[in-house]
Amino acid sequence: MTISVITFDLDNTLWDVEPSLIKAEQIQQQWLLQHRPGAVAAFDHEALLEFKKSVWRRHPELAHHVSQMRTQMLYELQIAGGYSEEEAVSGARQAFEVFLGARQKVELYEEALDVLKLLAQRYTVGALTNGNADIYKTDAGDYFDFAFSAEDIGTSKPHPAMFQAALKKTGTAAEQIIHVGDDPEHDIRGAHNMGMHTVWVNIRQKPWLDGARPDREIVNLRQLPAAIDHIADGR
Ligand SMILES: [Mg+2]
Repeated sequence: MTISVITFDLDNTLWDVEPSLIKAEQIQQQWLLQHRPGAVAAFDHEALLEFKKSVWRRHPELAHHVSQMRTQMLYELQIAGGYSEEEAVSGARQAFEVFLGARQKVELYEEALDVLKLLAQRYTVGALTNGNADIYKTDAGDYFDFAFSAEDIGTSKPHPAMFQAALKKTGTAAEQIIHVGDDPEHDIRGAHNMGMHTVWVNIRQKPWLDGARPDREIVNLRQLPAAIDHIADGR
C-alpha cells in the first residue's frame, strides 16, 4: 500500500503555540481594560480561574468549539462586570476578534516551510487541528490541500470523526495516510486507532508514556521526509 496523504496537527507540531497564545491573552486583556474595565475589575486572578471553570462546566456543548467557548466566557465576564446585554455581546465579539488575530500570528518552526514544500510535491497534505489556528493564515497555507478543525467537525481528536473527515476528503484508505502530530493521545492514539500510520513530533524530547507507540518519532521536522520514507518502504 502506497502512502498518498500526510495529515498534520498544527499547534506544537508546525510551530510553538505558546508565544502566540500569551500575546493573544495580553492583547485581549488590554482590550478589556480599555473598553470594559469593569469586567476586569470583577475578579482577581484566583476568582477569574474559578469563573472560567464554571463557564466550561456550564457549557459542555462548547467543549469542541474553542472560539465559541472563549466568546461565551468574555460575554459572561462582562455581564458579571455590570455591563448591559448589548455591551456584553458586542464586547465579547470584539475582544475575541483581537484575541484571534494575535493567536493566528504564529511563527512556523524554521525548517517547516522547506519540509512542507518538499512533501507537497509528492503527497496530498492536510491539517487536522483541535484549536482555532488557521493554516491558510500562515506562510505554509500554499502547501495544504485541505484543513479541518474540531470546530468544523463538532468533535476533537482523538475522536474518529476528525480522521474520517480526512479519509472522506481524500478518498483514500487509512493505511495510505500518515498523521504527524505532537500529542500522544490526540494525534498518535487517535490516528493509530483509525488504522493510519503515525509520526510523533517530539521536539521537547519527552518520554513515551503508554499505549501503542508511534511508527516513527522525530525531534525536528527535518527528520520527517526520512521518517515518511521509512514508513512507505515498510521498514
Ligand atoms: Mg498539537
